[in-house]
Amino acid sequence: MKCTFPHMGNIYIPIKALLQELGYEVIVPPPCTEETLNIGVALAPETACLPLKVPVGNFIEAQRLGAEVAIMAGGVGPCRFGFYGQVQREILRDLNIDLDVIILEPPQGDWNRFWRQVQLVRRDQPWSAVARALRISWHKFQALDVLETAARQARPVAANPRQVDAALSRALQRLDQAQTVAKVKEAVALGVDRITGLKVPGRKPRLRIALVGEIYTLLEPFVNLDVEKLLGRHRVLVEKKVQIGDWVKHHLLLAPLQPRQQNQMARIAKGYLSGPVGGHGLESVAHALEFARQGVDGILHLLPFTCMPEIVAQSALAQVSKDLGLPIMTLVLDEQTGEAGFHTRIEAFLDLLSRRQQGEPGVAAR
Ligand code: SF4
Repeated sequence: MKCTFPHMGNIYIPIKALLQELGYEVIVPPPCTEETLNIGVALAPETACLPLKVPVGNFIEAQRLGAEVAIMAGGVGPCRFGFYGQVQREILRDLNIDLDVIILEPPQGDWNRFWRQVQLVRRDQPWSAVARALRISWHKFQALDVLETAARQARPVAANPRQVDAALSRALQRLDQAQTVAKVKEAVALGVDRITGLKVPGRKPRLRIALVGEIYTLLEPFVNLDVEKLLGRHRVLVEKKVQIGDWVKHHLLLAPLQPRQQNQMARIAKGYLSGPVGGHGLESVAHALEFARQGVDGILHLLPFTCMPEIVAQSALAQVSKDLGLPIMTLVLDEQTGEAGFHTRIEAFLDLLSRRQQGEPGVAAR
């Protein structure tokens, strides 16, 4: 069976490994482009956020390459994401597009339903194949965090940050091709070595900025207009806590501890948010407070247009910024976002942070 899934940064590497090990022929959608976005925008409801629209474009582009079934994550909670798989399925049906959508819902205590889903995806593969598939994809998920973090740390202190991008891209190719866990470890070790080897000894980043916000926007470079590379080229050290390997660890492996983690986030965000607001809204506020404590120079808050959880977080972050005197800029992204305007806003923010750093009088936090 020819199977596809939506893009979200580099997750195509572990997901492809997982599905191939389970015996699927995997059709990775072409990388997201304006064309992908245009397809999604033309077919999805206008007020939907980008995590609905862009995957519709991914599915249709993959179906043109022969995909027969698409796998989409489900969800629960106040954010609309939980409906998106169903909406995407209806959009494809209305257009008579021959692509079935399998929606994988998180267990949330309903282990019978979760078990039925696992059986559906597993088909007739032996459990040993499932264990092997999970093992290699797990290692690839964790590898993504290691390689991407190494690149974020190297860009601002490399002689040429574009060489870091190229080294990361080669490391990701090796990771994609790795067929065993030993090869995955080899790809990571070599990748980190090559990336960190590009750092200029003694060179310091110009600024340190944290990224917080909605997970899809933080992870998909097409949607965030490659903000990490842009900041790296401005010699900014970028930090973020929302990473895909970490997310998988906490939402799948440590799922039973999820309520405890949410409580911890709520404790950190106390005084600004009283509990989860859907999506990563609570995390955005808690992470911003943690980064503030760690002494970052500023915070960029990224969200797609009409994202309710992050709109709630945005108002809390305004107060965080005021209370802590820490500059926080919110950037809302949608199909109308122009690259030039986006870059100009970021450059203005960096200029503000640099002048604050130099102690220029009269430069306020916001
Ligand atoms: S968290 Fe926001 S952007 Fe993400 S799916 Fe939910 S509403 Fe959309």
